[in-house]
Amino acid sequence: MPKLLHFDYIIIGSGLAGLQLALNLSRDDFFKNKQIALIDSKNKTENDKTWSFWEKGSSEWDKITHKTWNTALFYSHKVNLKLDLEDYTYKTIRSIDFYTFAINELKKQDNIHFVLDTINGLEEQEQVKVLGKKQNYVGQHVFDSRIPKDFFSNKKHVLVHQHFKGIVVRSKAPCFNPDNFTIMDYRFQYKNTTSFIYVLPFSETEALIEYTFFTPQLVNEHVYDEAISSYLKNKLNIDQYTITETERGNIPMTDFEFWNYNSKHITKIGTGGGWVKGSTGYAFKHTQKNVSTIISNLKAHKLPSQKIIKKKYKFYDKIFLNVLHENNDKGVWIFEQFYKKNSINTMFQFLDEDTSFFQDLKIMNSLFSITFIKAFFRVLFRY
Ligand SMILES: Cc1cc2nc3c(=O)[nH]c(=O)nc-3n(C[C@H](O)[C@H](O)[C@H](O)COP(=O)(O)OP(=O)(O)OC[C@H]3O[C@@H](n4cnc5c(N)ncnc54)[C@H](O)[C@@H]3O)c2cc1C
Repeated sequence: MPKLLHFDYIIIGSGLAGLQLALNLSRDDFFKNKQIALIDSKNKTENDKTWSFWEKGSSEWDKITHKTWNTALFYSHKVNLKLDLEDYTYKTIRSIDFYTFAINELKKQDNIHFVLDTINGLEEQEQVKVLGKKQNYVGQHVFDSRIPKDFFSNKKHVLVHQHFKGIVVRSKAPCFNPDNFTIMDYRFQYKNTTSFIYVLPFSETEALIEYTFFTPQLVNEHVYDEAISSYLKNKLNIDQYTITETERGNIPMTDFEFWNYNSKHITKIGTGGGWVKGSTGYAFKHTQKNVSTIISNLKAHKLPSQKIIKKKYKFYDKIFLNVLHENNDKGVWIFEQFYKKNSINTMFQFLDEDTSFFQDLKIMNSLFSITFIKAFFRVLFRY
């Protein structure tokens, strides 16, 4: 039971977005007199995700980074690429290491309060009443990482599921090259869908092997299992291994307008705020950026969600999603062009939403095709 029922800020969800926001609030003296509650329905004690992202140079995440790579491999039946990541490093963090690190740091602060409760609703007036299963809370401002219910009931938006199953495999004999990771291996494509194997080798004898789809429909569990077994047998030639962890996920790649659910006293954050990039499913670095924007806005007494959403990139994502939704078989071709024709620096900058219009044109040129032109008009005229 919390000591206080009234807080300056209430953060619903102590996942990636909630914890990053709390860390940034707690580290800034501007907020030292603010009482902040972090409410979650579960204790964060499991390694439920493996977060990967690219960044330039070192960062505060290095102390909890599990493994890094400077070279990526891309395979399809037509193209084999060994991509030097240029100015960038690809990094992986185990979610349990992030939760432990963040929670340990936050627990040292007197003004941060961890609460175990499930939130069922919000009532906004001049403050926000947060309706919990155990009790109610009041916050001056609420940061809410729950996904809006309309996302599940309103079917007007485009939704491509990034669904996957991964296993961490330990082999007896060395069979992985820990210097390179495989960003996409389309030689294990399922029928005509956008589906590929993704491999993060942590050492010569340990790797995460994931079978990932970007598709409007889901598949049965055995489809992932068969592709992973086939990869282990036919690509790696190993039959002696143990599975130490399993990861499943379904990340929404969507043009749903989550930001319409922000209001004067409520800011949606994380997946619930539309922070997962629609065209990639990546959110780790966008979360970091968006949290910094929220902090600056709060300090300037502006609406916290101001300038988080970049409409230009939402438009690009919409076109890309439209192609994947309507012509899912084109996924292989798109990624072949994307990785073959652009420099890594430009691609990562584009995906980080930091490119100039000239750079955007270069990327668009690499994907120029009748499929994209049709999708562009479908988005423009909403079918
Ligand atoms: C398996 C998986 C792997 C991913 N890998 C990557 C990756 O490699 N790179 C990348 O950039 N992105 C990745 N993502 C996408 C994205 O980064 C994550 O989904 C990220 O966790 C989103 O952050 P979040 O805070 O919105 O959600 P979460 O981290 O899921 O946190 C939401 C929190 O809210 C709590 N909650 C929900 N409802 C309630 C309620 N009613 N009351 C109280 N608490 C509630 C939940 O218990 C949870 O702790 C991955 C996603 C998944 C699912």
